[in-house]
Amino acid sequence: YYNEHTVLWLDGKILKAADTKTDLYGQSLHYGYSVFEGIRSYRTAAGKTKIFKAIEHFDRLQRSATTLNMPYRYTTEELIKASYDVLESNNLQDAYIRPVVYGPANMSFNPNTESFTVIQTWEMAPFLGEKLLRVMTSSFQRPNPKGFKIEAKAAGHYVNSIMASHEAKGKGFDEALLTDMNGFIAEGPGANMFFEKAGRLHTPATGNILPGITRATVLELAEDLGIPVEQGQYTPADLKQADAAFFCGTAAEVIGWHSIDDYTFPISWKDTQSRKIQQAYKDLVIEKQPKLETI
Ligand code: PMP
Repeated sequence: YYNEHTVLWLDGKILKAADTKTDLYGQSLHYGYSVFEGIRSYRTAAGKTKIFKAIEHFDRLQRSATTLNMPYRYTTEELIKASYDVLESNNLQDAYIRPVVYGPANMSFNPNTESFTVIQTWEMAPFLGEKLLRVMTSSFQRPNPKGFKIEAKAAGHYVNSIMASHEAKGKGFDEALLTDMNGFIAEGPGANMFFEKAGRLHTPATGNILPGITRATVLELAEDLGIPVEQGQYTPADLKQADAAFFCGTAAEVIGWHSIDDYTFPISWKDTQSRKIQQAYKDLVIEKQPKLETI
């Protein structure tokens, strides 16, 4: 993630990552009380560095912080500029960008009156690889939305994600699929999901999932491509009658599934509507212009 040359942005200053330190007496370390974002930048077809959906991500960071009653010190514009500065200082174009808002020394459960904001960048290949995934239905469910603010990207929620990933990988799978507290399929540890049946896409409705920015992008791409999409409540049994499925997220991008548990998706990935979404997403993030029709 970093070496002796890497820099990060910490509350207005570009600093060497290796020289920065954090407080060991804070709620963020002890109780998982911090919020973060996962963002990507791309080298576009025209050769520029472009942070994909920058406004959406930093607006969500602000919503996550305020939802958790954390003081929030910056505007979206300031943090986007800071992110471009860190990318440039680290000489990165295709990169992952990780802002975190965390608290000062405070071992109580009382609110903080200040917060710190850090922005880190590093190179990262697609988070779930580029091969079709063998997915396992997790024994872990997503947190009950009445016990957590599940629409906030809060660090502590990710213990649930880590447990589900460990379980799946421990059993020889590539990734987990978690259900919600009612047993309906919900999302992966760090990505939303869609499945395809008879040329239509289906995705779990919002309410018990993190409503991802990539999920919203996929909904737009499907509309552009004329692929019908339904949002609803689906059971693991529904998924096992599907033709194809994929995860989507900023880090994962759009990545198809080979199987769920012992059910192998019957349609070859290259013949799916999902594959068209994957290609359209790859083109969109690098701002590839559609080929002009020649008459
Ligand atoms: N669900 C969870 C639990 C996640 O951690 C992520 C990654 N932020 C997503 C879905 C996908 O969200 P996005 O498309 O905004 O990256």
